Amino acid sequence: MNVSKVNEHIFMIDVEVAGINHFIASYVVMGENVAIVETGPSSSIQNLVHGLTDLGIEPDKVSFIAVSHIHLDHAGGVGTLIKHFPKAKVIVHERGAAHLANPEKLWQQSRMALGEIAEIYGEPEPVPADRIIAAKDGMTFEIGKNIALKVVETVGHASHHLSYFEQLNNGIFVGDAAGIYLRDIDVIVPTTPSPFRLDMALASLNKLADLKPSVLYYTHFGKAENAIEKLCTYASQLKLWANIAKQSLDMGEDLEEISRKIAEKDEAVKKAMKHIKVHRVLGETVLKTSVLGVADFVKNFGLPT
Ligand SMILES: [Zn+2]
Repeated sequence: MNVSKVNEHIFMIDVEVAGINHFIASYVVMGENVAIVETGPSSSIQNLVHGLTDLGIEPDKVSFIAVSHIHLDHAGGVGTLIKHFPKAKVIVHERGAAHLANPEKLWQQSRMALGEIAEIYGEPEPVPADRIIAAKDGMTFEIGKNIALKVVETVGHASHHLSYFEQLNNGIFVGDAAGIYLRDIDVIVPTTPSPFRLDMALASLNKLADLKPSVLYYTHFGKAENAIEKLCTYASQLKLWANIAKQSLDMGEDLEEISRKIAEKDEAVKKAMKHIKVHRVLGETVLKTSVLGVADFVKNFGLPT
């Protein structure tokens, strides 16, 4: 069963991209109407549609498909999914809107940046421009009585990243703003691809903590309690990575050496190592693209004050 109830009115669907479990989640918020938060990539949309069917969602009831940002693993499937829901509008950061309407460039850049992983996710289909809402910080979208999603701009991981606050359960859909939560071992690892902005990511984590959430809904992966502690832990981890990268770069060391030091000094990464190594996506990203993103930031901007 890939559908589970995670809170009042909220369900989670494991989209099981390429058969990988517990990696990409889509969420369903149910009121009189329905909102879907995150779609996962295009290659796993059929799994998501099956899950939505299992939940008995009537296509006309879906009023919003909200995505945290346009990376393929979060929104690559939105153009395919929206065909199933004739009344749904897509909520995306205003800086991401044009890329959903015309995803060719996004696809080309993703193939260059991700290589084989882009092929696992599949090519995104365009979203009709008149069905896209270019969202801004603070906008609220009503789904039912006392049920709404409030947009919280949380840039850093990407320049076009949004989180969504759901007041009834005091939870936040964090996209990639709070890292990757490896639920099975209760560990967070960074997702910080270039052009990652550490300064902005830390400000976003503060902004999320200021909302005093009880729970976080990670796209990667699942619901976590102790939300504020999780946000603080992630902020500390990012600072640790930046400090290690700065010291190494100052000594003229390369990325491999930075990764080796991170794997040695970050207890969370140490604990996650076995899991990362055998994971088709995380094996290629955590200690490679994410380390590169932090190193690039430190090179360009130094350590955040
Ligand atoms: Zn992302």
